[in-house]
Amino acid sequence: MIKKRLSALFLLLAACLAVFFYVSDNSLPQGAPPYDVVFDDVVDVNEFSWINHWTRPVGPPRVGLQVGHWKNDELPDELAHLHGNTGASGGGKAEWEVNLAIAELTKTILVQRGIEVDILPATIPPSYWADAFVAIHADGNLDSRINGYKIAASWRDMTKKANTVIEFVGKEYQQSTGLIEDPEITTNMRGYYAFSWWRRLHAVHPMTPSIILETGFLTSPLDRRIIVNKPELAAQGLANGLINYLESESLL
Ligand SMILES: [Zn+2]
Repeated sequence: MIKKRLSALFLLLAACLAVFFYVSDNSLPQGAPPYDVVFDDVVDVNEFSWINHWTRPVGPPRVGLQVGHWKNDELPDELAHLHGNTGASGGGKAEWEVNLAIAELTKTILVQRGIEVDILPATIPPSYWADAFVAIHADGNLDSRINGYKIAASWRDMTKKANTVIEFVGKEYQQSTGLIEDPEITTNMRGYYAFSWWRRLHAVHPMTPSIILETGFLTSPLDRRIIVNKPELAAQGLANGLINYLESESLL
């Protein structure tokens, strides 16, 4: 009798565990970008007061395109905790491959307009400065019906220009790709590690308008039609948005 009860209890426990793991696994933000922020971080304004007197370096317009997760294993010690963050996968592709294809196609378009473009891996140069910085990523979800692109700015944008970059890029990206916008901006996006200029060496310069673009879901067949099969449409949208932004800043 006791044995029977024990085995029933054991079965019940096993069932509970199975349900728990199923639910928690389903809610895993598979494609979430690597983040590095403590939202109550206090920035010492005195330490960064030089920002008020900062002027843009003379030279042609410059854009940084970061390929999310690319060469992730080369991250420096200060970002060693992100080593395992290799991103989403889908359609036979790793996320970094999709991000790289879009970055390179975007660069080709921008260079034709006289813009200097740096294609950057997961590790960005110390205090990296550009007129605009875009971290290119692709999302993932266990539910293949989840689709859409997302675009967000650094939560601590000293330039006050990142939202303008978002407006230009968002409009053109949607028009060029026809993908729907997913408004679910996550704290992982706004607290993206490369935005953490106040606590990391390998991060953007505080006067770099910085955004992160989740180009679509790699796990969605609908989104893969664009980001995997027609990356030139994603690149055209991103490039058009950046060109419009640089024009609005009288840099082109
Ligand atoms: Zn990613």
